[in-house]
Amino acid sequence: MTKPARTGAEKRLHAEQERRRRQQQADRDFPHEAQTLLLVALARGVPLGEAAADLGVTTQQVLSRARWDRLWRRDLDLVLLVTRDESHSHGTEYSYKDRRCRCPDCRAWNAERARQERTQTLSEAPWHSACVDAVARLGRISLAAAAVGVERSTVHRHMQQHPAFAANVDRALVRHEADQLRPLLEALREGSTLGAACQTLGIAKSTIMYQRRTRPELDMLLSAASEAGGGYTRSEVRMRLALHCSVADQ
Ligand SMILES: [Zn+2]
Repeated sequence: MTKPARTGAEKRLHAEQERRRRQQQADRDFPHEAQTLLLVALARGVPLGEAAADLGVTTQQVLSRARWDRLWRRDLDLVLLVTRDESHSHGTEYSYKDRRCRCPDCRAWNAERARQERTQTLSEAPWHSACVDAVARLGRISLAAAAVGVERSTVHRHMQQHPAFAANVDRALVRHEADQLRPLLEALREGSTLGAACQTLGIAKSTIMYQRRTRPELDMLLSAASEAGGGYTRSEVRMRLALHCSVADQ
């Protein structure tokens, strides 16, 4: 006796159950606390392989979660982008294979290579690349959609239909965030206070403070930069100046 062929609905249900089972397993293997600790270690400058090994997970587990957990990908990619070695170019074979860099650009290079190997060609809309550029520049999908003259809902629909486009948009979002964060970190390293740096760069300090409370890796990046720059708050600076003057008076 042969089993009756599965209907389309049964196949979809089975795929969904399978996906959920794999995600639950991933949550057990690499729980939330470990994710946070990994981000903080990366923000402190520990290399990915080493940071993962310290927490008993593999680089593979860390990166495969980034394929389906969008929030995780955002946090991981941001910290990888701002801490990567800028002495060589990224998104290249050399960087991915020889330097073993796993920043979003280098992973994208590898994904593109794999895609070409599968000779899977997806027909992309002509506005896709302009939209990705606009997202990187403006930092928001709604603004980018307006800039290229399509509806925001169209962008989201195309993101669901074209995984490669969706990945490019997500990378552009995180690149925008990294581009904003870099000068801020630079200013802190040069000794500026967070308030002064935000004011100079036209960034809302309240936004940074909110992000800082909710994303430990950002807090670590900012703290490390402040520490490198002397790490004094305004009142500490005043106190030290007063101390310095009184010493000079003697
Ligand atoms: Zn890289």
